[in-house]
Amino acid sequence: MFNLAGKIAFISGGTKGIGKGIAKVLKQAGAITIIAGTDVVRGEAIAKELAVDFIPLDVTDQTACKNAIDKIVEKYGRLDILCSNAGIFPQHYLKDMTAEDWDLVHTVNLKGTFFLVQAALNVMEKQRHGRVVITSSITGEITGISGYSHYGASKAGQLGFMRSAALEYAGQGITINAIMPGLIMTEGLKEFGDEFLNHVKDTTPMRTLGMPEDIGYAACFLASDEAKYITGQTIVVDGGQILPEMQEA
Ligand code: NAP
Repeated sequence: MFNLAGKIAFISGGTKGIGKGIAKVLKQAGAITIIAGTDVVRGEAIAKELAVDFIPLDVTDQTACKNAIDKIVEKYGRLDILCSNAGIFPQHYLKDMTAEDWDLVHTVNLKGTFFLVQAALNVMEKQRHGRVVITSSITGEITGISGYSHYGASKAGQLGFMRSAALEYAGQGITINAIMPGLIMTEGLKEFGDEFLNHVKDTTPMRTLGMPEDIGYAACFLASDEAKYITGQTIVVDGGQILPEMQEA
């Protein structure tokens, strides 16, 4: 495991699912960890469970994103690692999708990433050091799922954003990378029901669903000092989901 001892790490959407898995792993690696989400009751409970700090934050609010980062810097003196992970995935088939459905997904997933990453970069730029890790998805850039055209567009959009942002900050000791998870066993995914989850398990080459910590380990690597020469890149963590060229027996 990579050593993040003493690093200050902030994880949006760290109160559940993948973000909680990232928080657990970064904390285990020694980082002083702060999680964020909109649900204060759950956020405080999970913070207690993981022995981390919690900041209530809606990533769709630009001022709130800036205030959250300022609060961290005020309390801890700096921000070394931002994991921009908060995201939503409501299902809407294209024929019924409204402009509001489209906007909500893009506002949380894409604009929220822009707001929070920009606020963190303003601090990291002064430090001339920082690691940004965005939770994107295989959906959009590589695969598609019926009912998720807005989601896929937002997740592919995060990668377009990440590559240009990485270039802008490459000379300043700051790396910006993304993880592309396949289907990971989270609270959000549980809502799809057992039949769906068993189907995913049976059709995933590794015959098991990924766990939130699997994304945490990739985030831990990208957040480490050892990953200092990697920027604007992606790591797929999907148990082989995107590999099959044809359906195998
Ligand atoms: P989840 O279990 O539903 O958790 C989502 C997290 O995001 C929660 O902590 C939630 O906290 C937070 N959140 C949602 N809206 C927010 C907002 N406006 N501001 C701040 N926080 C907000 O979802 P998940 O499955 O862990 O997904 C996490 C990320 O991984 C997403 O970006 C998703 O697109 C990506 N991903 C997931 C999978 C998968 O299979 N699970 C696969 C690929 C990519 P509150 O409810 O308190 O706001």
